[in-house]
Amino acid sequence: MDRVIKPTQPVMPQYDRYIREIKDIWDTKVLTNNGNKVCKLQHDICNYMNCKNSDLFVNGHSALIIAIRALNLKGEVLTSPFTFVSTTNAIVQNGLTPVFCDIDDSYNIDVSKLEGKITDNTCAIITPHIFGIPCKVKEIERLALKYNLKVIYDGAQAFGTKIDGKHIGAYGDITMFSLHAIKVYNSIEGGLLVYSNDKLHESFELYRNFGISYDEDKNDVIVCGINAKMNEFQAAMGILGLEIVEDEIGVRKKLASIYIDRLSKIDGIDTYPYEDGIDYNYAYFPIRIKQEKVGFDRDTLFLRLKERGIITRKLYDTLSCDYSYYKEGRYKMDVEYARKISKEALDLPLYGGLQISDIEHVCDTIMAICKEESNVK
Ligand SMILES: *Cc1c(COP(=O)(O)O)cnc(C)c1O
Repeated sequence: MDRVIKPTQPVMPQYDRYIREIKDIWDTKVLTNNGNKVCKLQHDICNYMNCKNSDLFVNGHSALIIAIRALNLKGEVLTSPFTFVSTTNAIVQNGLTPVFCDIDDSYNIDVSKLEGKITDNTCAIITPHIFGIPCKVKEIERLALKYNLKVIYDGAQAFGTKIDGKHIGAYGDITMFSLHAIKVYNSIEGGLLVYSNDKLHESFELYRNFGISYDEDKNDVIVCGINAKMNEFQAAMGILGLEIVEDEIGVRKKLASIYIDRLSKIDGIDTYPYEDGIDYNYAYFPIRIKQEKVGFDRDTLFLRLKERGIITRKLYDTLSCDYSYYKEGRYKMDVEYARKISKEALDLPLYGGLQISDIEHVCDTIMAICKEESNVK
């Protein structure tokens, strides 16, 4: 078999640059607790995104937990079940009740179904920009204003995405980004909150560091916080990663255009209809397999590709609400279309470490599988 094409691969700065970047940590002996590098990265990110406030955390999930906690929410939260389970866990870990709303062909929450689910108990919409594809943010904003709801976006996958030239973190009350190794931009592990209300900074700082409020005379604990601080080695990786993230997105965009061009010739293998006015980050390359047209299903394509050394991902084969912990019928859900999409969607390999020839190879292989499977019938 030819070499294996992995589903994803972390973006890494040059080794020598990283070694140089971390050298002064041995001089300062500051490893964590808001060191220089964390402060610099916070600043660099605000410049990059043109945002007012950003705070860094040890990972995206803790950042999301803290974002929700800081808004003091109570009651029901409208959310999408087509996500990494982190979104759902963070809602429930804050004592809130998820109300699972269906998705549409954007893989994101179906805004036309949101209004009907708002009750007196609804306090927020907490939903992902899945695959880095933005939600319909303007409609969500309209509903939030009308019903006085908070909006937190799980932008874990959406670093670098822009709408009308504006970074995606400009929408909603708070946007969380994950800087985990396999995201478009990483700090090994890491989390980021971007928000416009300056007052939130103090809460984030408290919750991130055990709830301790420092005072010259006497420290006090004023909220029940956790430990979610980013360390200096993570920040060093983040600082260098930020210099190469736009190149990474650029390469992905070029590779994606080859996929789009080649796969558009197959009726029943649908690529995402990318819209004008949105700068996508190409975090993932989701396709949908329409069995009624190609004559085989998503799982068959997944297996045939795997046999030929091309590893793809079935994101999200199981909806959050269908995992054992969530499925006991405790929560309201309307997820029929999401269930259908979860059985049609497949994520093809897409990252800057791939060559044009790799993408051609994946497309050729999909073509060959389509031919074989139609002969089998
Ligand atoms: C990666 C991811 C998270 C969690 O981020 P971590 O940094 O791994 O904790 C949350 N939500 C979504 C949608 C993700 O893809």
